[in-house]
Amino acid sequence: MKLERRLVINTGGMFSGKSTELQRQGERHELRGHSVLYVKPAMDTRYSENELVTHDGQKVKAVSVDTKKPDELLFIIRIMQTEVICIDEIQFFDLHMIEIIDGLLKLGKRIYCSGLDLDFEGKPFEITALLMAKADEVKKLHAVCDNCGNDAWVSPRKTDDKEQVKLGEKESYYPLCRTCFYNEQYNGFWGFDNE
Ligand SMILES: [Zn+2]
Repeated sequence: MKLERRLVINTGGMFSGKSTELQRQGERHELRGHSVLYVKPAMDTRYSENELVTHDGQKVKAVSVDTKKPDELLFIIRIMQTEVICIDEIQFFDLHMIEIIDGLLKLGKRIYCSGLDLDFEGKPFEITALLMAKADEVKKLHAVCDNCGNDAWVSPRKTDDKEQVKLGEKESYYPLCRTCFYNEQYNGFWGFDNE
């Protein structure tokens, strides 16, 4: 069976299971005998240099690609003849990565990307938003709100840092649903209670 070219985006906040979903998708192709390449941004060294590791500790081998030079990915794929490409933490890559992904789709590849949809202030990551528009399938995943237990929508930062890209884990981000986020950010501002 010929593998159909397709772009799938797994998105959502921190701790929503995006990397786990990416590995599951890759593993299903491996079971079918397809060659799978896992890719992660070179700057993401939170857990491991050569492996893609989820928050719950599952690992697969991954190549690190410089976020400012996504062309490296074309080079690697040409060498490895990969049919399926699973890219994690897509929000960290330069917008040029979109052209690379378009090119890979034209070559007939199957692409899965996982990444944050929104930053800690609830503003979209541009690359994720654009890829969601181009995708064949978008999966929105949800963590559990730290405050009330509903589906989380955003991952605010526990500290006052303002830069959009900042690596962090449980100690620096927490999942919140939309209502709890609005209550925390704007309570009193609009003069009504977000019940
Ligand atoms: Zn909540």
